[in-house]
Amino acid sequence: MLSYRHSFHAGNPADVIKHLVLAQVLEYMTRKDKPFDYIDTHSGAGLFELAAKDAQKTQEYLEGIAKLWAYAGQVDAIRDYVGVVKSLNQDTLAYYPGSPKVAEQFLRKQDKGWFFELHPQDLKLLEKNTGHKRSLRVKGEDGFKGLMGLVPPQSRRACVLMDPPYEIKSDYEVAARSIIKAHKRFASGTYMIWYPVVERARIDQMEQTLIESGVRNIQLFELATEADTEERGMTASGMIVINPPWTLKATMDEVLPELVQHLSSETGFFRSEQLVAE
Ligand code: SAM
Repeated sequence: MLSYRHSFHAGNPADVIKHLVLAQVLEYMTRKDKPFDYIDTHSGAGLFELAAKDAQKTQEYLEGIAKLWAYAGQVDAIRDYVGVVKSLNQDTLAYYPGSPKVAEQFLRKQDKGWFFELHPQDLKLLEKNTGHKRSLRVKGEDGFKGLMGLVPPQSRRACVLMDPPYEIKSDYEVAARSIIKAHKRFASGTYMIWYPVVERARIDQMEQTLIESGVRNIQLFELATEADTEERGMTASGMIVINPPWTLKATMDEVLPELVQHLSSETGFFRSEQLVAE
């Protein structure tokens, strides 16, 4: 039974770090003309109207994208990310792109996008929002399994975003194991796993699983809007990236302190780490 709907959370600080990293990775992939595949294992609806009931109920976007909408700072990667969101809006912030819509802005006619989504309503919205383009394939199937059927891709170049809801606690282990398995079949792909920090121990365990897997070249980027706590709720989130663009760490070293300044409370912090060397 799927109850998670991303429409309640669109544009929050977790989406900011996730989609900023995603945009950086995709931009890097487009520096070569050679085609590549983008695989989004947990896609969501693709586009979110912020005036709609769900987004208004939580208003999480006010703590994320809304605080960056008028960003006038010096960090190019933040400007580029806000630019991606702006390209789907007129003068005011009305829509927030999910990962498929962020990706669509980078995918060229020679590239392919694969989008997995299991929730029947979000699947319908995703089909509508991706406009039935031939290069974009929407699948109402399990993204963990779907990924295995797509690696190695024909193009031999790919990046993967794995962004499960973590409603089921086993998602932490399943996500790490799925990426390790996909990496065994296709070691040169770039793999991104988004994670929430609700209980720190779960993330420590996920990191340990990846570190001990033998997979090389793993980086981690985390934005904490608040210090870790024993109480309920997400205080931080991050992206673990395997085979990142060589430019990513330096970019995130600039981005993350700036995001802490704009989006975090006094107890907030960031992490930018090479978990496993190349
Ligand atoms: N990646 C999206 C974005 O950045 O806009 C948000 C995705 S949301 C965190 C997770 C989504 O995964 C939900 O829409 C949920 O319905 C879907 N989902 C849950 N389990 C799934 C599975 N096994 N395979 C594919 N989709 C799944």
